[in-house]
Amino acid sequence: MSIEGADTLAIETKALTKRYKDKAAVKHLELKVRKGEIYGFIGRNGAGKSTTLKMISGLAAFTEGEIRLFERPVGDPAVRRRLGVLIESAGLYPNMTAKQNVVMKARCMGLVDESSADEVLKLTGLADAGRKKVKHFSMGMKQRLGVALALLGNPDLLLLDEPINGLDPEGIREFRQLLLKLHEEGKTIVVSSHILGELSKIATSYGIIKDGELIEQITREELEERCQDYFQIEVHDIQRALVLIQETFPTVRAEVFDACSIRLFGIRDGAVINQMLIENQVQVSASGMHRMDLEEYFLERMEGRR
Ligand code: ATP
Repeated sequence: MSIEGADTLAIETKALTKRYKDKAAVKHLELKVRKGEIYGFIGRNGAGKSTTLKMISGLAAFTEGEIRLFERPVGDPAVRRRLGVLIESAGLYPNMTAKQNVVMKARCMGLVDESSADEVLKLTGLADAGRKKVKHFSMGMKQRLGVALALLGNPDLLLLDEPINGLDPEGIREFRQLLLKLHEEGKTIVVSSHILGELSKIATSYGIIKDGELIEQITREELEERCQDYFQIEVHDIQRALVLIQETFPTVRAEVFDACSIRLFGIRDGAVINQMLIENQVQVSASGMHRMDLEEYFLERMEGRR
């Protein structure tokens, strides 16, 4: 067996495609998730996130392509055992307690040792849920119980589909802490979401999917580099403004944003730009410093502006 290092791919898909009748829900997806990552899988509703995660976890057949987990074919039972999944409803029994739910699933999986049930309940902060039935749980507790079920068998790779949907801020915070704890333990986690601000607090890499196609994979470091501060100006004569800026401030990188806006990167003081333009009879109708965040970056990518 090969030795796994930081470069090992926990998930690799090659030309992964899913068609429902004549409609392709996922098209030639080339996903690469490195071991130990928290991979934020981002896309609008209907982009193909759930379909992709279902194919990886074996809940949906794929039409074409290949999936490898830990560099072995997905059909290999040894790698399948390393996978834990929370997709759609977690299949909880509402009239049972957290522990009863976990023990039930553990038995179905052939795990005889009940201490693993206690372990996953402790890890997900549900050890004290006691005799409370699941139907009286908060949404956050239910989601954490879903993760507890996914953690049975101590998988190395977790696939979580929209796990923070419907959680209140406290539930989201608890969930974030849980994911960070699991990450510290060395687990690889793929988490799909459209709550981008939240994802950006934990993800180490991102994949952006649009209309079934992966339009970008980017690491946190690359994203931070691209989300630099910029000074945006609205002017009436873009071409003249560009020439003047390039002549006067050659180290500033200028990007035309739309018909009347320019974004300037690599400047600290926007006032000098405004002053220079006004002195050269270029009208500036608006200006300001901005910090691009994940949400803005993502929206721009989705709209094809980058
Ligand atoms: P959401 O956040 O809304 O769940 P998603 O990114 O997870 O979105 P998918 O659920 O993977 O998107 O859906 C991708 C596309 O495939 C959508 O157009 C959807 O209508 C279609 N689709 C999904 N499941 C089926 C199915 N069983 N039969 C036919 N079409 C389907």
